[in-house]
Amino acid sequence: MGGMSFALSEDQELIRKSVAELMKNFDDQYWMEKDLAHEFPTEFYKMLADGGWMGITMPEEYGGHGLGITEATILLEEIARSGGAMNAASAIHLNIFGMQPVVKHGTDEMKARTLPRIVNGDLHVCFGVTEPGAGLDTSRITTFAKRDGDHYVVNGRKVWISKAVESEKILLLTRTQRYDEVEKKTDGMTLFLTDLDRSKIDIRPIRKMGRNAVTSNELFIDDLRVPVEDRIGEEGQGFKLLLDGLNPERMLIASEALGIGRVALEKAVKYGNEREVFGRPIGMNQGIQFPLADALAHLDAAELVLRKPPGSTTTASRAAGKPTPPNISVRKQVSPQLIAHCRLTAEWGTPRSTTCRVTSARRA
Ligand SMILES: Cc1cc2nc3c(=O)[nH]c(=O)nc-3n(C[C@H](O)[C@H](O)[C@H](O)COP(=O)(O)OP(=O)(O)OC[C@H]3O[C@@H](n4cnc5c(N)ncnc54)[C@H](O)[C@@H]3O)c2cc1C
Repeated sequence: MGGMSFALSEDQELIRKSVAELMKNFDDQYWMEKDLAHEFPTEFYKMLADGGWMGITMPEEYGGHGLGITEATILLEEIARSGGAMNAASAIHLNIFGMQPVVKHGTDEMKARTLPRIVNGDLHVCFGVTEPGAGLDTSRITTFAKRDGDHYVVNGRKVWISKAVESEKILLLTRTQRYDEVEKKTDGMTLFLTDLDRSKIDIRPIRKMGRNAVTSNELFIDDLRVPVEDRIGEEGQGFKLLLDGLNPERMLIASEALGIGRVALEKAVKYGNEREVFGRPIGMNQGIQFPLADALAHLDAAELVLRKPPGSTTTASRAAGKPTPPNISVRKQVSPQLIAHCRLTAEWGTPRSTTCRVTSARRA
């Protein structure tokens, strides 16, 4: 890792500051109310769409800014860090990179009718991949699309589909050849961007704790007719095409987690400094300081891994807006974590009881 710079460019810093500033319009009370009411954060969504943020990674010819994964992770990190956490991030998540299979493999006609509407916030799309019997092992999906003239007829079941209730379209992964009919298990899958036709898809929200401003749903798909022009790329190649959205999505999720960690730590430090017990702030006690310092070390380590994972793209390819391959194995995470621990130990030394080291955590 010697010689690598993790510094953000001036433009990237500007993005961070601008988003942080915008997010001040939505405080903890706003997010709590949205969560309690199970209500989509329309005002927040609209503000980002009006400000052009939905198009951050979209090609300029469709109204976007054509920026890359680093800028997108900064956007999502700051959104989560505002306190909006997953309620905020999930509301816009798919707009940011989820449509990359369409950008890269969709027909010009498909792009023209969908991408400008993603950029202006008018089009809500959900992501239909997971099934009750197929989570991490996507090859096990069984939702099947059977060709019928100029249509496909789809039957199957999906689960954990975020935002389906609010969405007009679905990016739908199906099988067009069964699992036991293909030699390579990721072959034989086909991807569509199609209407979430409520007369053929029964959408049932799942009751859950948290992230209630965005629904999580079960989908029962019964003889859904999908026109051939809604297919993305070649039949049978859907899994490969989906990776253009799934891979950067992992980076976005990581940045959202990082933002949530940062805001949680900030709040903990603030509380540690404010809450007085036995006549002094609880943050003066090592029992409070050490876990917070540990949390900071882990967050710094996570940020290093996120910004420059080993084997990531070069600066040149990042400048060209290419997504970073998310080859972040556990082994590769270990060393930056250790480095961050060492840095903190060197910087802080052993906390003394006379000073509130929690304040240092905030400054660091
Ligand atoms: C907040 C949220 C939103 C989501 N939104 C969507 C959505 O919009 N659309 C959608 O399609 N899906 C969505 N999902 C589903 C998500 O993509 C799946 O949860 C994910 O693919 C994992 O599948 P699973 O939960 O079935 O885990 P499983 O596949 O059952 O795996 C469970 C765990 O087993 C372990 N494991 C399994 N195999 C291995 C292995 N080979 N090596 C090591 N460990 C292993 C891992 O710890 C893994 O986490 C969402 C999930 C969440 C939590």
